[in-house]
Amino acid sequence: MTRKFFVGGNFKSNGTITQIRSIIEGLNKASLDPNVEVVISPPAIYLLLANEIASNGVQVAAQNVYDKGNGAYTGEISAAQLKDAGINWVIIGHSERRALLGESDKFVALKTKAALAGGLSVILCIGESLEEREAGTTIDVVTRQLKAVADEVSDWSNIVIAYEPVWAIGTGKVATTEQAQEVHAAIREWLKKTLSAEAAEKTRILYGGSVTDKNAKDLATQPDVDGFLVGGASLKPAFVDIINSTA
Ligand code: PEP
Repeated sequence: MTRKFFVGGNFKSNGTITQIRSIIEGLNKASLDPNVEVVISPPAIYLLLANEIASNGVQVAAQNVYDKGNGAYTGEISAAQLKDAGINWVIIGHSERRALLGESDKFVALKTKAALAGGLSVILCIGESLEEREAGTTIDVVTRQLKAVADEVSDWSNIVIAYEPVWAIGTGKVATTEQAQEVHAAIREWLKKTLSAEAAEKTRILYGGSVTDKNAKDLATQPDVDGFLVGGASLKPAFVDIINSTA
């Protein structure tokens, strides 16, 4: 079976109304490979604007969601509120939130569970630090992060996994094609053993970490690389070339 190539753009906490509008208008006008699913993720305050103006098949994701429903949770946004606003995707478990905001594997798993129960699709981020890679524990770390989610969620059909080595995020140090393929293959094997052969076959595994228009084509040749989660380069016109890297 073929997995539809997927390219996500994580704008992080970047942009103004004018800049977000201009990036999206650029994507609306661009010639995008119709065989690629494209999902952009602006800061929460711009989600409604982005959803209103995005066309050309471009979908919109939140960068976070809370694990509870509506209620006394100041500053948080529920899955129900995202759905109400017409948002169908959310990024969960990004390493910046794990590191800077102390999000645990368990919290990431509970948020994933709440997002799926609320009808959202999830881009689930996992990845090892440089220290963990150097200690040879990369596969242990990513499978531990995945297991926490598997303990809460049995149906993974609305999850896209983003393997993002922390040492490659925003550093300009991209994983080699071999490094990416090795971890992606291990993740797929874990999906097969833990969930099912079907889930392993169907689940898309994205690579994230300093992806640019220069390295995307090579990474995309790997059999278990089903797309990208792109940070910095998603704010630039070259994001279109990354989207079209398999064309
Ligand atoms: C990210 O934030 O998910 C990311 C991969 O960032 P960058 O592409 O800038 O490394």
